[in-house]
Order: sequence, then C-alpha cells, then structure tokens
Amino acid sequence: MKSVIVGSTTLPGSHDPKTAFTDGSWKKPRQPGSQGKIYWPKGWSKKTILAHSGFKGFGKSLVEPINMTVAYSTPTVEDLRYNFGHMKEAMDGKIYGRVSNDNERTAGELIAKLYGTGNAIFFSSGMASISNTFDALLRSGDNIIADYGLYGCTHSLVTKGLRANGVTINLLDLRDPTQIGRHINERTRAIYFETPTNPSLHLIDIAAVAKEVKKSGYTIPIIVDNTFQTIMGQNPIDFGAHIVVGSATKAYSGHGVVFAGMVAASGLFIEHLFFEQRKDWGATLGPFEAWMVSLGARTLYLRFDDMQKNAIKVAKMLRDRDDVLKVNYPLFDPMYKYLHKTGQMTGPGHMITINLKGGAEAAEKLVKYTKIFEHAVSLGNTASQMIDPGGSTHFFLTEDQKRAAGIAPGDVRLSIGIEDYNDLNKDLTQGLDKIRRKSA
Ligand code: PLP
Repeated sequence: MKSVIVGSTTLPGSHDPKTAFTDGSWKKPRQPGSQGKIYWPKGWSKKTILAHSGFKGFGKSLVEPINMTVAYSTPTVEDLRYNFGHMKEAMDGKIYGRVSNDNERTAGELIAKLYGTGNAIFFSSGMASISNTFDALLRSGDNIIADYGLYGCTHSLVTKGLRANGVTINLLDLRDPTQIGRHINERTRAIYFETPTNPSLHLIDIAAVAKEVKKSGYTIPIIVDNTFQTIMGQNPIDFGAHIVVGSATKAYSGHGVVFAGMVAASGLFIEHLFFEQRKDWGATLGPFEAWMVSLGARTLYLRFDDMQKNAIKVAKMLRDRDDVLKVNYPLFDPMYKYLHKTGQMTGPGHMITINLKGGAEAAEKLVKYTKIFEHAVSLGNTASQMIDPGGSTHFFLTEDQKRAAGIAPGDVRLSIGIEDYNDLNKDLTQGLDKIRRKSA
C-alpha cells in the first residue's frame, strides 16, 4: 500500500486496488474512537450518550445547528492545504460537505463512541453504506461468504451487482459456521451477514463465526449488518466482527423521515472509506439528514426498549393461536438463550415474522383487516408496520432463493412500534378472527 505521509497523520493516499486491505489493516484502531470534536465524559452509559446525541460541545448551543453549507471558508492557502493533508481536519468537515460535514461528523462520532470503533461514517442510505463497503474491499476475482438470509436489496446487490463485477458469492447458512472453513480461500475478502436475518429472524453466533475464520488462518474482515438490533440490542464488534454496517433509516433514527446508512470500523479501512471511497463515489450523508439522525437517536434507548417490550407480548400472544403456524422471534429460537447469556443479544428485538395457516391469501387479508399496522416497507418506526416479505422486500428472489432465505407463502413480517400493547393485541386479534370467520 502506497501511503502519503503528511505531518503527524498518514493518509491512505492512493491505495493499491489489487492488494486492498488484504493486510488486515482494518483490524487495528489507529485512532481511538470519537477523538474528534466531541468530548465524551468518561463512564457515560449508552443511554446517557444517546440522550446527548447531537450535542455540540460545552459552551456552545445545546443542540447542534444544521450547518447547510457546501464548502467551508479557509483563511489561507496554507490552511486549506493543511486540511486536505490531515485526516483529522478533513474529517472535522473543514473542506467540502461531500468530504465531510459538521452534522455528519457529529452523528459519526456518536456511532464510533457507541460501538467503540476507530471511527464511523454516514452514507446517504443503508444500501450506500453496504455497497461502498463491498466496493472498497472487493476486486474482480475475489469472493465473499454471506448468509442466505439477507435483506432483499443486499441479496440483489451481492448476487447480481457484485457478480456482474466478477466477484463470486458463496451463500451459506451461517447458523452453522463450521461450513466457513470449506469455502474460504486466498481470494475471500469478506464474511457478511445480518443477525437476526431479514425477514426470517435466524440468529448467527458472531463469536463462533470469528472463531472459524481464525481457524482458517486467513485474515478476512467480518461484516455485520446491525440494522435490526441497533447498538441497543447488540454490538457485533465486541464479539469479533470488524465492520458494522446498517441502515439508520430504521430504528436508529426511528421516525421514518430520513434515509441514512452507517459504517463503524477501525484502522486504515475506515480512513480509506472516508477519504477515498465516500469522497469519490460521493454518497455522503447531507447535513440536514445527519442532524435528523442525531435527533432521532436521542430517544433510541426508550423506543427500542418499548418496541421490544411490546414485541415480546405480541409474539407470545401470536404463538398461542392455532391459525398462526410459526412465530419467528428470537426469544423462541433455541440459540437465543445462549446468545443472551454470552451478551451478544441484550434482548430479542422488535421484529417478528409469522406464518399464517391460510397461506398467502390469509397474509393478504391480515394486511387488509388490521388498522393500526401500517402496510408499508421499512421498519423500526414508532408506528407498527406489516408486510408480506416474499411479495415486497424480497420480491426479486427466485422461489429457490426464497426457500433458502427462510421465506414462505403466508409469511407476514411485523415491525412492532411503541403503541399501547392492548391496541396492538386487539388489532391483530380482530384481524385474525375475521380471517377465520370468513374462511369457516
Ligand atoms: N439492511 C437491512 C437489514 C434492511 O432491512 C434495510 C432496509 O430495509 C437495509 C439494509 C437498507 O437500508 P436503506 O433502506 O436505508 O438503504
């Protein structure tokens, strides 16, 4: 890797695409997390840090102003040259909003602090964070190992987009990580998965995956999409993952009003992602969206906790009905107890996928008969939502791919919100009872 040494900071400079990150440089934090413009007092819990999200700094405005500027004025030629050559100054948003902007940095530093990574950066959507991460790591002739259970667009990205660029995809059921060793080789550049998976809610033991990768002798980054659990439900970095990606469009911002994607990682990898990949490919999160993310994150703790409490009750209620054939909810997964004990999962989360006795027809009717549950894609919002995943988010998959991803006709994916549980119960109960009555 060719590096440009400028002052005290080494910039990734023009890294050689052929050897991109095969040296494991993503493993070591070069700079401790969140050492930018925000000062976090020691010992604050996640709840406290989140409550202060978007905080500008002592002696400044209580909430960070939205700094809607394209460029930042710099006093002298020398100053601007210095900013271009120094990672910290470039990161602090002192050049150009696409390189980095004030509000994006505030949101990014918060994420780095929460995950304990060297840094974190925001993209214009969850998919932009995932596609840019892959693009930074992969070259034609490389291969990746991913789990079958991927969000529909991620599935499409890896099986179509990446394949078209000459990357081979090995889709495995990573609930059994011992398979990894058989598929790894010297051109494997990433192990990628969600846990719980969307929409089947399969659970993957991150530490067990890390153990298998280590056993193989290869140095390969483990990337986890943490959209469903957020930092409240799971920190993949603590269990051996190197890169966390995710959609902050969902529970993290929480109100269904903003698109955003995050990547938290360490070392040269995140610096490269920031200074070359995002700057040049251009999908940087704008100041207004970043401000909205910080604002939403202030209540993540409360929302996640409330959604999860509701989801536990909803899942138990649905499990007791004979017209619901299956309730996929982490709490009922035999792996959950273990993953909760190890600390990987702090709770079962707010996503449930059920399978209805009446198949696809019943799923369609449930959507029609329920009033509180919005029929809409996306998830993690204050209001509960439902969709038929096979006919919407995972529409692009072939029947075989759907089966492998654990998607069946009659599935309904529920994103549980913060409403009163009694209302959710009544709504689902009357909907299911009506289906039963009409088909009797
Ligand atoms: N990852 C998961 C698990 C998702 O569910 C989604 C969207 O639903 C994404 C990534 C993509 O996020 P975005 O819609 O912000 O691009």
